[in-house]
Amino acid sequence: MRVTWTAGEPARDGAGGSDGGGGERVWRLTFLLDPEDATTGVCTDGQRMELRTNSCHVRLPPAGPAAPYAGRGEPYVHPDLLAAAAWTMAAPWTRRRVTFDRAISPELAEAISDGWGVEAGPVGERPRTGSRLAISYSGGADSVAVAAILPDAPLVHFQRISHPRVPNRWTHYRSDVLARLAARTGRELTVVRSDLEFLLASPRPGYPEHHAVAAGALLLAGELDLGGIAMGYELGSRWLGGDRYLCRYTPDNPMWAPEGRWGRVFDAAGLPVVLPVGGVSEAVTMRVALESELRDLVRWCLRGSGDGPCGTCGKCLYKELIQAAVERRPLATTVTAKSAVARKWQESPPYGGQEMIEYGCARVPGIESTPFARAAELLGATEESTRWLDHCYPPAIEEIPEPWRERVAAYMEGVGLMTPDECARVENWGIG
Ligand SMILES: [Zn+2]
Repeated sequence: MRVTWTAGEPARDGAGGSDGGGGERVWRLTFLLDPEDATTGVCTDGQRMELRTNSCHVRLPPAGPAAPYAGRGEPYVHPDLLAAAAWTMAAPWTRRRVTFDRAISPELAEAISDGWGVEAGPVGERPRTGSRLAISYSGGADSVAVAAILPDAPLVHFQRISHPRVPNRWTHYRSDVLARLAARTGRELTVVRSDLEFLLASPRPGYPEHHAVAAGALLLAGELDLGGIAMGYELGSRWLGGDRYLCRYTPDNPMWAPEGRWGRVFDAAGLPVVLPVGGVSEAVTMRVALESELRDLVRWCLRGSGDGPCGTCGKCLYKELIQAAVERRPLATTVTAKSAVARKWQESPPYGGQEMIEYGCARVPGIESTPFARAAELLGATEESTRWLDHCYPPAIEEIPEPWRERVAAYMEGVGLMTPDECARVENWGIG
């Protein structure tokens, strides 16, 4: 795999949207496969994927006065940041070797070698560091909770834009609405726009690796002096196997453990991944988000308009269950058990995100007349059996890098820490 980044002028090649202008900076990524590489691959979470094309753009807002330049008008970005960003898009297709266009640090080369068995180079740069923590902010309940816990951290929002050579059949995906909501937070905000999701032909446009959402934060880390990137991955994603490894305790989660392959790559690039809500469930992040001043800007639905979420997609149904449970009220949905989006809840467990289905089914009044009736019956969860999901799993706090740990720990003491018995619920998840 050979990777090249070029800094270009906005819109000269007709890429992406046209509403940027005004000094927007464009970084163009191209990668060329070596003979042993493949156009099919597997995401670190196990999802099989197919590559559609080999180039994309990341568009940054106009440079501030502090932005460093490498000469001839090209902005300076540390090569480890460029390489780490490229790796979030190139890793699934690379088999033996990755050659970057600028020398990287030995630390980053080692992280890639240990994590993937891929030789990375050339090597010959010193590692970088930074000091501020930014939040990768999507606007969903989990990242709003992170923003509420860290009220002075700057936000970086990833906005999908169209690719110049790939037809966008996903026009219902309203990334413009989400970017507008992010702007209304009143927080220090950088919106990064990219067509990188269109690198994938299947299963659908999306991040080649989950970490590609941070591509913009990586490119900006030098000028924003970033030393960490906080993400909204919660207990389920970090410790319970998330959506795709069903029901399995995952202390060694390759995506989100600090010593996992991706944790090491980001750490080597001087931008360790920080999970401030990694120890709490989506019930807690929902509660924190709804109690925050950003409450009206919470939006997990990718389809809704400026007027609100669509209310009919699978994500809306799932999050409505959690919100109704937190608010102790009946489910407000027009979705029925016969709807396609509710089909999986008519089948037997295990389910992705099962801990939250249990939590919701145990708490929502009248669950027996909702699309979750069958799941509720099969799971047989009670308030008592799901109370651990109201508390924080302490090992998640230990994982937070030292500069920010104390602050998150203080917040989580307010939420309440899990007892040893409750910790055992996490550690035996999927077994007992
Ligand atoms: Zn929706």
